[in-house]
Amino acid sequence: MSTTASRRAEIAGAGFAGLTAAIALARTGWSVRVHEQNDTLRDFGAGILLWRNAMLALEVIGVAPRIRAEGVVPDAYATSLNGEAFDPELAGYPYWAITRPRLHAILVDAAREAGVELVTDSRAVAAEPSGVLVLEDGTRIAADLVLACDGAGSAVRNSRPELAQERKRYQDGVCRVLVPRPEEFRGEEWDRVIDFWTLEPDAMRILFITTGPDTIYLGMMATTDNESASRIPIDPEVWSARFPHLARVIELAAEAEGGRHDAYQTNRVEPWSAGRVVLVGDSAHAMCPALGQGASVGMVNAVELAHVLTEHDDLDTALAAWEERQRAMTDAAQARSAYMAETRTLARGNGFTPEVMETANFELAAATDEHLAVYPVPLVATDAP
Ligand SMILES: Cc1cc2nc3c(=O)[nH]c(=O)nc-3n(C[C@H](O)[C@H](O)[C@H](O)COP(=O)(O)OP(=O)(O)OC[C@H]3O[C@@H](n4cnc5c(N)ncnc54)[C@H](O)[C@@H]3O)c2cc1C
Repeated sequence: MSTTASRRAEIAGAGFAGLTAAIALARTGWSVRVHEQNDTLRDFGAGILLWRNAMLALEVIGVAPRIRAEGVVPDAYATSLNGEAFDPELAGYPYWAITRPRLHAILVDAAREAGVELVTDSRAVAAEPSGVLVLEDGTRIAADLVLACDGAGSAVRNSRPELAQERKRYQDGVCRVLVPRPEEFRGEEWDRVIDFWTLEPDAMRILFITTGPDTIYLGMMATTDNESASRIPIDPEVWSARFPHLARVIELAAEAEGGRHDAYQTNRVEPWSAGRVVLVGDSAHAMCPALGQGASVGMVNAVELAHVLTEHDDLDTALAAWEERQRAMTDAAQARSAYMAETRTLARGNGFTPEVMETANFELAAATDEHLAVYPVPLVATDAP
């Protein structure tokens, strides 16, 4: 067991990965500072699914009770294709839906409580393997560990030629918005994830997720060459023509502020560290959002990193052990998400096979039996065909 009391981490990026890593490190005795390029600490207006793996990570760092209190457990995952509904899946599975701004605010509160220093308007541009973070204004800060949590386009990662990356773009993109919940979309049949698909003449999908009594998160997927369906603000005519029964929420989506369109793109980086510079989150493994696992895997890897650092005094040994432990799960999550995005397998229902659920069911080395007991996996989720 190492003593980390005197160790210092500098983190670039106050997204879900950076904040989770900061809390996890601070709780194991590190002195931590996070640099966020924006002038405020926030995330944009959409929702997010936190799978069992993410909830375990958040349980380890003491954040999960607030997610459980402020988020929503979908009662099932229901898919329909061209109006035909398949049998709902994942009944009783322990996963949560919450708005991204709420999740972000909860993590910021927890980071402050753990003694993390959060600095805004602070853009990182590079890092050096000896353990130096370089800021845009030329400031050089020495640390025992520099974490690049600055997202898929990571400037810190791009400054290190020894971190080789493959980037890939896919055919789809998603408009994400939060809308107020109208009266006709209240009631039990809407308290679930509903995945509405049409595949002709081209794929369009509305992922409907209740994020609380007053809000609905809509993820509206289309191919990026379908320009009118790949636009924020939402074009209500294009979407209502395909999903007429959702016209009311589509109208609200068209009026929503703060939404965003993203094309699917991924990166695979190897190795994840160069000396004392380490990548955590989308900087290391941005993935297709088909399974909603990107942030969840980033948070798992952040918590596992802090845990492995308690097991080894030597940083090189710890970083190697961490990558060895997390790499297979992460690569598999990326590959499965890409497969799901390319084949549109989820459109045909019953997509959450035991293999697909392996990422969500991943059990962290940092999790204790008490943590695991909070998130029992119902047999139906793992025994499905
Ligand atoms: C359509 C869609 C739906 C998704 N749904 C889900 C889901 O349901 N569940 C799930 O688990 N995942 C989901 N994801 C994935 C998830 O959004 C990402 O994996 C996650 O946001 C990545 O977090 P991060 O902290 O690594 O990076 P980011 O969220 O990109 O955060 C990076 C932070 O670093 C800051 N920054 C950037 N550059 C610098 C710099 N140079 N210096 C300082 N700060 C910097 C940014 O401003 C930002 O605050 C989805 C993704 C998409 C596209």
